[in-house]
Amino acid sequence: MRNRKKPSTLSRFIKAIADMVEPEAEKKAAPRKPYNSFARQSGPNDSQGTGKKTCQYWNCDIDVHSNHFLCAEHYDDYREYIIDKCPGCGRFKDVGFDVCKDCYSAAQKRGADKKSDSTIRREYSKVWEKGDQGVEKFYAYILKDDKGTFYAGHTKDLRIRYGYHTDGKVKSTAGREQKLKYYETFSSRQSAASREVELKTLINTNEFKIRKMILDFEDEHKLITLD
Ligand SMILES: [Zn+2]
Ligand SMILES: [Zn+2]
Repeated sequence: MRNRKKPSTLSRFIKAIADMVEPEAEKKAAPRKPYNSFARQSGPNDSQGTGKKTCQYWNCDIDVHSNHFLCAEHYDDYREYIIDKCPGCGRFKDVGFDVCKDCYSAAQKRGADKKSDSTIRREYSKVWEKGDQGVEKFYAYILKDDKGTFYAGHTKDLRIRYGYHTDGKVKSTAGREQKLKYYETFSSRQSAASREVELKTLINTNEFKIRKMILDFEDEHKLITLD
């Protein structure tokens, strides 16, 4: 089993907050499926037939304890409903994609419809429904990293999710310093997820507009003082 890094003070703080604010309903709905229901069908580490268990995320090779099906980082993603099962192979993939990259490449090789490239499409995931019970506010947000790259996401708890980003626990933003630049609130996960798609599209097609939105957002928040 892989030794887990000693959690930072910040991440322990965030965990403590998470434990406090997490609604009971969600705790009960937390994923508790036995390992066998996620049995891996194929993967790089299985080729020697060592029987070793590795993380079920489609391109993650990290060894996991026999009781676990995901590594620590991917389990956090799973609990935040950021990854779900690939209908093609049963391993895990980002919820924004229809299938994992392996299955996508395989489909392309078979000459499947090229228009199905879903690099920015995010679909509503059924697995969210249970975990969203009792949550009244959802966020679509924009981060900017130390190289000036923007990232859009959505979450039901901005503070916890932002902590995951700054702790490097979110694969797509890990390894770079992330700053929260912008957010909007929504009353449903679905509308926050749709807004995330719009923001991702804007990041790719009209970064000027994103910068303008961030400037306006900053201006607006300067109106608030603690005095
Ligand atoms: Zn993993
Ligand atoms: Zn797959």
